Amino acid sequence: MQTVDSVIIGGGVVGLAIAAELAGRFPGRAVVLLERNAACGQETSSRSSEVIHAGIYYAGGSLKARLCGQGKELLYEFCRRWDVPHRRIGKLIVAKNPDEAATLEGLMTCGRLNGVEDLELLDRSRVKALEPRVEAISAVWSPSTGIIDSHGLTARLAWCAAEHGATIACRHEVLGIEKAASGYDVRFLGPDGTQDFLHSCWVVNCAGLGAERIAAYAGIDIAAAGYRLYFCKGEYFRIPLSKGRLVEHLVYPPPYKDLLGLGIHVTKSLDGMTKLGPNAFYVDRLDYDVDAGHIEEFFTGVKDYLPFLARDDLQPDTSGIRPKLQAPGMPSRDFTICHEADRGLPGFINLIGIESPGLTSCLAIAGMVADMIEL
Ligand SMILES: Cc1cc2nc3c(=O)[nH]c(=O)nc-3n(C[C@H](O)[C@H](O)[C@H](O)COP(=O)(O)OP(=O)(O)OC[C@H]3O[C@@H](n4cnc5c(N)ncnc54)[C@H](O)[C@@H]3O)c2cc1C
Repeated sequence: MQTVDSVIIGGGVVGLAIAAELAGRFPGRAVVLLERNAACGQETSSRSSEVIHAGIYYAGGSLKARLCGQGKELLYEFCRRWDVPHRRIGKLIVAKNPDEAATLEGLMTCGRLNGVEDLELLDRSRVKALEPRVEAISAVWSPSTGIIDSHGLTARLAWCAAEHGATIACRHEVLGIEKAASGYDVRFLGPDGTQDFLHSCWVVNCAGLGAERIAAYAGIDIAAAGYRLYFCKGEYFRIPLSKGRLVEHLVYPPPYKDLLGLGIHVTKSLDGMTKLGPNAFYVDRLDYDVDAGHIEEFFTGVKDYLPFLARDDLQPDTSGIRPKLQAPGMPSRDFTICHEADRGLPGFINLIGIESPGLTSCLAIAGMVADMIEL
């Protein structure tokens, strides 16, 4: 059995950012990332809205608020340094009626408490100046919200990790974890179909949709720990280029309390595509089909503020699945990022429920995890 210094389970943006951070911070230490798919970033990290969030909505003092704010700055800096395609495109949260307008005040306060200093409340004429084709009586303007090429980010993080000496092992699926006298024996299925072990003092579980299972492998009682994951799907519908060009910025409805996501909004990608979404509903299994029957939900969600859209403009596109810690009907939960020493698992770090804003936060999460580790 090979012995290494740290094993990272999961090669999404979070695992890759952690691998790059650990290998950079602790030169000469053996950092190995195990990823079950043939390439990194094939699950949630490549199925998002690709928005660099400003950090407006999250509960004050939460990890989501803190890591999103820090992560946004780190991510812009990383993108500039390493030529990852991105654009500080800006976002409008639009109110279509007085009730919604009243909620914008609360959003401004929440955003400012979270350290988002650049928000502005715009009246109808200023919204029109920014977005002539969008109907709204007022809006919150967030100039520091941006978009990023998530595939470019994944590739660059993998490159940085490898440059610092980390080993990235794709087609390596973790199947079990056994606690040893010091550290852990991580059992995996390799690309040749045989099983083997890696011994490591430090194990970081950032397996996204598979994180609950990895925690259970380590012997954690998932229900008692509150680590049960619920899969919450988000679908997108695209609109034609000609209509997409009529909107310049990201445009969101105000978030409602009972909403599982941020509401069906306009997302723009760097290749010029415009999509609507994602919606949010719980599913029992991982499939990425988009239900064309959901077109009405999408059209109804946006038609008041995008009056130039016709129902037939919408075409099913991609989908992603959020690993949520909140059960259906329960209040929103924060990220769980926990060194499990108190559960008798020193050296074992769980990252569970890393839903949005996980992409924005990945570099800040990596810094936080690296601070927990002594190599
Ligand atoms: C619809 C949607 C929209 C979103 N929009 C945004 C957005 O605009 N902005 C934002 O900041 N965030 C957004 N997010 C959230 C963001 O995409 C995630 O928080 C982030 O990608 C999580 O990255 P990750 O590395 O934790 O997970 P993943 O990308 O899922 O990576 C986990 C990896 O672990 C691997 N794995 C699992 N089990 C095992 C195993 N047993 N052995 C080995 N490997 C294993 C998987 O194959 C996977 O590659 C969105 C998410 C969704 C679903």
